[in-house]
Amino acid sequence: MTASPVDLTADRLACKVCKGSGLSHHEAFSFEGKNYPARDYPCNACQGFGWFTPPSFDDILKRIVATKGKNKGTVRASFTSPTIVRDPSEEQRREQINAKRAYYVWRLARFHGGKDTTMPSVAMLFSRGDPYIQLLDALADGVARKAFGTSMGAAAMWGKALLGSNYTGPDPIDLMLR
Ligand SMILES: [Zn+2]
Repeated sequence: MTASPVDLTADRLACKVCKGSGLSHHEAFSFEGKNYPARDYPCNACQGFGWFTPPSFDDILKRIVATKGKNKGTVRASFTSPTIVRDPSEEQRREQINAKRAYYVWRLARFHGGKDTTMPSVAMLFSRGDPYIQLLDALADGVARKAFGTSMGAAAMWGKALLGSNYTGPDPIDLMLR
């Protein structure tokens, strides 16, 4: 699968599922003698926002790396997948996106690193519609390389995709992971 490069100059990009409308249209239907009219629901890929802002690598790394105890500086061995909140506030909707992104990177990094050999299907579902998916993939690859010493390749992708060719500072992964 080839995808066009992520536009890093935009401050946000449209959700790939609802194309920016923030809505998911459900056709009218009948069930057990009852008629249900057509309805628009908030798109669950983008939590109804219609768009995504670029991921915060700092935020993701903070969530997936253990910060205390004997495992400090290593990728967490377990990570709770985000739970669905009913009637979420705007803050909870944003949190949902951040939590899904962190879960995606954590799960993909373990998959690339050979720690989980089953396909990360739930994680892939969580990333549905995210126009920054290539950046999350690149981060997962970078984490796998640093934490597990392996990756499915494309290690060079990390630097280019996330930091830009002009970046001269330290690799954020090196700062977080021992
Ligand atoms: Zn959407």
